[in-house]
Amino acid sequence: MNRSLMISQLESQQEWDIAIIGGGATGLGAAVDAASRGFKTILFEQHDFASGTSSRSTKLVHGGVRYLQQGNIKLVMEALKERGILLKNAPHLAHNQTFLVPNYKWWESPFYGIGLKIYDWMAGKLGLGPSRFLSKEETLKLAPTLDPTDLRGAILYHDGQFDDARLAINLAQTAAQYEAVVLNYFPVTGLLKVQDKIQGITVKDQLTGKQYEIKCRALINATGVFTDSILEMDDPGHEKMIAPSQGIHLVVDKEFLPGDTAILIPRTDDGRVLFAVPWHDKIVLGTTDTPVEQVVAEPVPMEEEIRFILKHTALYLSRDPQRSDVRSMFAGLRPLVKGKSKKTAALSRDHLIMVGDSKMITITGGKWTTYRKMAEDVINTAIKENGLPEKKCVTFDLHLYGYDLPVPSPVSVTPGDIRRSVQEEMCMMVEDYLSRRTRHLLLDARAAVAAAPAVAAVMAETLGRDKEWVEEQVKAFTSLAKNYILSD
Ligand SMILES: Cc1cc2nc3c(=O)[nH]c(=O)nc-3n(C[C@H](O)[C@H](O)[C@H](O)COP(=O)(O)OP(=O)(O)OC[C@H]3O[C@@H](n4cnc5c(N)ncnc54)[C@H](O)[C@@H]3O)c2cc1C
Repeated sequence: MNRSLMISQLESQQEWDIAIIGGGATGLGAAVDAASRGFKTILFEQHDFASGTSSRSTKLVHGGVRYLQQGNIKLVMEALKERGILLKNAPHLAHNQTFLVPNYKWWESPFYGIGLKIYDWMAGKLGLGPSRFLSKEETLKLAPTLDPTDLRGAILYHDGQFDDARLAINLAQTAAQYEAVVLNYFPVTGLLKVQDKIQGITVKDQLTGKQYEIKCRALINATGVFTDSILEMDDPGHEKMIAPSQGIHLVVDKEFLPGDTAILIPRTDDGRVLFAVPWHDKIVLGTTDTPVEQVVAEPVPMEEEIRFILKHTALYLSRDPQRSDVRSMFAGLRPLVKGKSKKTAALSRDHLIMVGDSKMITITGGKWTTYRKMAEDVINTAIKENGLPEKKCVTFDLHLYGYDLPVPSPVSVTPGDIRRSVQEEMCMMVEDYLSRRTRHLLLDARAAVAAAPAVAAVMAETLGRDKEWVEEQVKAFTSLAKNYILSD
């Protein structure tokens, strides 16, 4: 995956079957689906791949125990099926994760036990293992740092866990294997129409300033929380459809939850679930659900969200995590589709596909776990609405790029890995390397800042950049990293 090569392909192709706006889970999934069916496909991401919500998830491939509590059977069934498919097609990035639901009250064991048996049953053949009841002793053996006072036992169940940004990069590489052109730092700046119907888009190479007109037969808007900004280009004054909701995570050292078992706290003050999940040798705690007015590229955790997570984890762990224990924190925005309810926890988590009068197709909502099904649905819609030839979806059994390669370390700063990432993964900025090609920034923000000068030096050498570029990159990254560091 080489950016200059991608640009020369962009320049030589007269018309594309499918153009996609947005390089998160939804857009990249659509690019893989379209290209693997044999459509000439091009994708534009305004910043880096997965730099939006898709690198800021809880890292779970799950049916959603919470949606089961809400009775959303269809959503859970679909997600459980997709969970199984993802673990099969990307075993290098997604794996079976054991969870405990600790029981402190007499009714919790039968209540959650029955719910999780239904969850097992719904997963059917793609199940990851049966749930079971554990005694207090068995529970503390698996999770020795759980608060033992009044602990009665736990329910053990299985779900999936993955590396979201790495999966996004591998999706881009998979699409490229099928000759799709995927470009980062390439915002879509306008829509081209003839007689009110979409004929193409205007785009700008952020790194050179050069502008292009791209012709396409179908256009897909997969811009997550930015959906309304593209809809506004299509239909000025349209009614807003996204209600953004912020979720944050705190990352602490493994000693707070040693071992491989994750914990699900089934009910917080605001009726949510809270997770403590081992990830790359750290523990991710989260998340929150805070309605926000503004859509920003770099959301920042709010003080009350930080306190909420620290308070609830302290209730369940024998040692309370303090602010100084937080190695990193990160926030993401959910692109929830507006309903009548004002409470974001109740808004639709299902995906939605909308075809405009101009024939632009918008896809939004959903979750990482269901990206493949969302992609299948949106490309089927493009075939139907934009007169493309009928071609069957092939992603059910499609191994993703990296399936048979060694998995790179999530915190590597070796020159070889940095160079490979620049040359093969379109890593253009220090932030791309430290946040999404590796996961340094999310795992230990201070260590990431310390690594930035060395990373910038190797990148500059590989990209042919000068000393000024190195200084500017280190400065920009250090400033960004402030949002990930929790002060005392
Ligand atoms: C806190 C939190 C936790 C979550 N946890 C989980 C989880 O554990 N498991 C799970 O399955 N799901 C989870 N999700 C949901 C999942 O992360 C999202 O559904 C998914 O990442 C959305 O992907 P997307 O591609 O639609 O949006 P994004 O990832 O936001 O991608 C949209 C992209 O469009 C780009 N864009 C916008 N405008 C333009 C333009 N003009 N030109 C070019 N590009 C443009 C943006 O830069 C952005 O990169 C979580 C979400 C949140 C917020």
